[in-house]
Amino acid sequence: MVLSMSLVVQKYGGTSVGTVDRIKDIAGRIAAVTRDNHRIVVVVSAMNHETDRLMMLAHEISAQPDARELDLLLSSGERTTIALVAMMLKELGVKAQSFTGRQVGIFTNSAHTKARIERVVADRITAALEHKFVPIVAGFQGINEQSDVTTLGRGGSDLTAIALAASLHADRCEIYTDVDGVYTADPRIVPTAKRLDCISYEEMLEMASLGAKVLQDRAVVFAANHQVRIVVKSSFANGSGTKVIKEHKGMERNAVSGVTYDRNQAKVTLVGVPDTPGIAARIFDPVAQANIIVDMIIQNIGQDAMTDVSFTVTKDDVSRAIEVMNCVAQEIHAKRVEVTRDIAKVSLVGVGMRAHSGVAAKMFVVMANEGINIMMISTSEIKISCVIEEKYVETAVELLHREFELDKAVR
Ligand code: ASP
Ligand code: MG
Repeated sequence: MVLSMSLVVQKYGGTSVGTVDRIKDIAGRIAAVTRDNHRIVVVVSAMNHETDRLMMLAHEISAQPDARELDLLLSSGERTTIALVAMMLKELGVKAQSFTGRQVGIFTNSAHTKARIERVVADRITAALEHKFVPIVAGFQGINEQSDVTTLGRGGSDLTAIALAASLHADRCEIYTDVDGVYTADPRIVPTAKRLDCISYEEMLEMASLGAKVLQDRAVVFAANHQVRIVVKSSFANGSGTKVIKEHKGMERNAVSGVTYDRNQAKVTLVGVPDTPGIAARIFDPVAQANIIVDMIIQNIGQDAMTDVSFTVTKDDVSRAIEVMNCVAQEIHAKRVEVTRDIAKVSLVGVGMRAHSGVAAKMFVVMANEGINIMMISTSEIKISCVIEEKYVETAVELLHREFELDKAVR
């Protein structure tokens, strides 16, 4: 009976489809799943670095490429891989069919380059499954109401996979990447970092937003809202990976589950802002209008009815943020706009923080002992982030990993 067969959505990232040999490998994996009589839907990213290459091409033509055209260009990376994967499966005797975002029916709003999914109509996918085809879906792309191609933000293939898994009521969504799960820290910086067997949606969201590249942050929010079961695995090795699940009591073993960092940060400061009611709204409203996501905000203590306001954005958004701030500065009669690009954010994440005190203090002591200046701090119930000079990132991550004994982590 078709309906009682399990359904899994598998997503393969750029390195997993990076070469023809890699494509052959994953096609083998997909074929094995079909032999076991499971139904499977595959979502793929563009080949390794292809999206960056397309982005660079666009930037050779224009400093700020037209967003509608950019989306069409960027979406071509995933079109290439779906066709190649489908062809490879056919070579292996597996019935497969490729689908673009438009063919699936992934409808989004019109916020080009970071469009939001509004509705998924997966009728063609369901039909393909009924006819025993393996649907190979292009990640990262959708269409707006005018049928213009949109993209879902960098790393957006994860979101495609999770949205499809939700819409098809899949049993789980497996995310295949080049690491075999989520680690207590980036193993390239901390060789003693440990793989976590499971992690809560909330922790995963913090880690993803804080720079751990395994999953797109928006995809994690979507998964949490729709209770999609995720497993992060390596396509290069066999292992159980890391499960992303709903938080439960047994998870609170350590105060901290992981240390993350994000170099893709820049600080913008508006110097000499008149300290009057409504000023924050006048600064941040235009930023929001420009679709720029602000992370941390600090307003310094004012002097002579003047104050400084600093905020952080990703490096990709910094030039647009400066443009917006130059206009705002004129309007509200601020003195000037300053930018610092060589900053990074280092963060501790853990649902255990709800039950442990003193985590922040311990983090600050580690930084102080090393002479690392903390420029900004932000906290939530389950994370603490510090903005520091970029050159100290590796040292900070290593020291924090050791201080919180994450190399001994068992979960
Ligand atoms: N190819 C897109 C990117 O590089 C989407 C993805 O890989 O998830 O951001
Ligand atoms: Mg990714």
